[in-house]
Amino acid sequence: MEIKLARNMGFCFGVKRAIRIAHQVRRETEEKVWTLGHIIHNPQVVEKLEKEGIVAAEDLSEVDSGYVIIRSHGVHPKILKKIREKKLKEVDATCPLVKKAQERAKQLVLEGYETYVIGEKEHPEVVSIVGGTGGKVRVIDCVEGLKITDSKVGLVVQTTQSQDTLRKVVDYLLPKVLEIKVFNTICDVTSKRQKEVKKLAEKSDIMIIVGGKKSANTSRLAGISREEGCLTYHIEEAKEIKNKWFTDVDRVSVASGASTPDWIIKEVINKLKKINANYVDIDIDKEEILHERRVKFNN
Ligand code: SF4
Repeated sequence: MEIKLARNMGFCFGVKRAIRIAHQVRRETEEKVWTLGHIIHNPQVVEKLEKEGIVAAEDLSEVDSGYVIIRSHGVHPKILKKIREKKLKEVDATCPLVKKAQERAKQLVLEGYETYVIGEKEHPEVVSIVGGTGGKVRVIDCVEGLKITDSKVGLVVQTTQSQDTLRKVVDYLLPKVLEIKVFNTICDVTSKRQKEVKKLAEKSDIMIIVGGKKSANTSRLAGISREEGCLTYHIEEAKEIKNKWFTDVDRVSVASGASTPDWIIKEVINKLKKINANYVDIDIDKEEILHERRVKFNN
């Protein structure tokens, strides 16, 4: 059995940055440190942070004092207002790419475009983008149900969406409008991982996607792999792996979402190595990545 590892795995820079900020605040204060919602969509990381005294509050009403860290997805401005009213200390760890999407949406509205966000309506990132425009943009998941009323249309995209979806929406709109302004706010990290998973899935019997079940970017990777017809398992931890998955299987690939920590990836790789002690096929690039990880793990 061959095991191939995706080249781009582990935390993206936005998640690394948010966790670094949270740790920095924790080190520098004796006061309570909160995150509003889970800092990232990975329950194991959230649990680890709680043990370190960085606690996730589901709602601002749970927070009485101290620091509130705004997670990488950003928040609706009305939440920021409440934080200030409660005289809490706000620390903004919104990913700079999400900030850019928020700003672009505002810009399109100000320039008079009928503006749409392509994304998941309930996702915190999309909520923050819509909120930043005072609710003046509409959310669409693709072309279904898209009824434009203006000839001047603007588009921004949730950072975890696929380029294919954006292309479908643009192709649909082009013949219908006089003017279209598109800010492709899809995160490069996400699209690189999606492309890689698509390629790996084409050549694999099984794909194992590692990451939080509620993580949009991780679930999208699993979706892309399934669309390629590859038998796909989306797991959060190594203990979910079952030996029976590998009966009569020659090629297995492993990829992860942007909010999956290295230590979970390492556990998954170790478990796979135990199941398949005979042969692990890793190409030169991936050998380098593994080497880097080994160094990091040992620190
Ligand atoms: S996936 Fe991209 S947009 Fe999302 S937090 Fe990471 S770097 Fe930022």
